[in-house]
Amino acid sequence: MTKFLSLLAIGLVLIAALAFGLQQNPTTVQRTSPFSEQRAGTDLQTIVGFGPRPAGSDAIAKTRTYIVMELEKAGLKPQFDEFDARTPRGYKHMVNIHATRPGSKPSVIAITGHYDTKVFDNIRFVGASDGGSSAAWLLEFARCTKDLKLDNTLEFIFYDGEEAVVEWTDDDSVYGSRRDVDVRVRNRSLNNLKAMILVDMIGDKNLNIKKESQSTRWLKDIIWGTALSLGYGKEFPNEEQEISDDHIPYLKAGVPSVDLIDFDYPAWHTAADTLDKVSAHSLKIVGDVVYLSLPAIDKH
Ligand SMILES: [Zn+2]
Repeated sequence: MTKFLSLLAIGLVLIAALAFGLQQNPTTVQRTSPFSEQRAGTDLQTIVGFGPRPAGSDAIAKTRTYIVMELEKAGLKPQFDEFDARTPRGYKHMVNIHATRPGSKPSVIAITGHYDTKVFDNIRFVGASDGGSSAAWLLEFARCTKDLKLDNTLEFIFYDGEEAVVEWTDDDSVYGSRRDVDVRVRNRSLNNLKAMILVDMIGDKNLNIKKESQSTRWLKDIIWGTALSLGYGKEFPNEEQEISDDHIPYLKAGVPSVDLIDFDYPAWHTAADTLDKVSAHSLKIVGDVVYLSLPAIDKH
């Protein structure tokens, strides 16, 4: 009996010590998010498996069907914004996909990426990182924010027509994002956009996302600060570079915007941008960094 009581006492002391220890550690940094590397990897393989996916192709239509099906499985209600864009090769039918996760306020943080791939006449270009990684990342990011409580509403936007049809100019590029800004200006909802976060080419196994120099300072400060606190200083180096991308139309319209892009990618716009060059782990790193940055962006 005595032995039993002393064992019981030791047990209670241990439980109390454990509870006290947990209470004493309130500053523990959350180091990961519900972003699933495995699900993102499956999405990436599936999307790249559809083959080259330029605007207007059958393969991009299949990609769209897959994205919609997966968003609906996650309880979201995707909507299409369809338009005909005038390109150097005539009018092309394009479709932006939108889905929202309501916060307690109507103002919006847009999380965005493109799902088209650049058209090439002479090579088979499947865009594992350029077009594949952003689409797969955004799909898993939309799923994994199910239990994230924010004031702002999250809007996920999959852009069509990011790529130039012939050669990159202001008129032949970022068709989907230019269209989205036009629509918001026309229906007077642009002021609802608190921030825009763009991911592009984030699949590289050797992840290296420099600070895009035109992007909004406070967004870069929050995101690179989060990356550093998670131990991703190597993947998010403190160096600047300038890139034209889907965030530019929003910046021109005065919306705080940031582009997360790994442009240090030898396979860029070549037949070598294939699944063996990319890693779902890179998508997970960017997923964790953006997810854990959102509370501070929400409160800014
Ligand atoms: Zn590209």
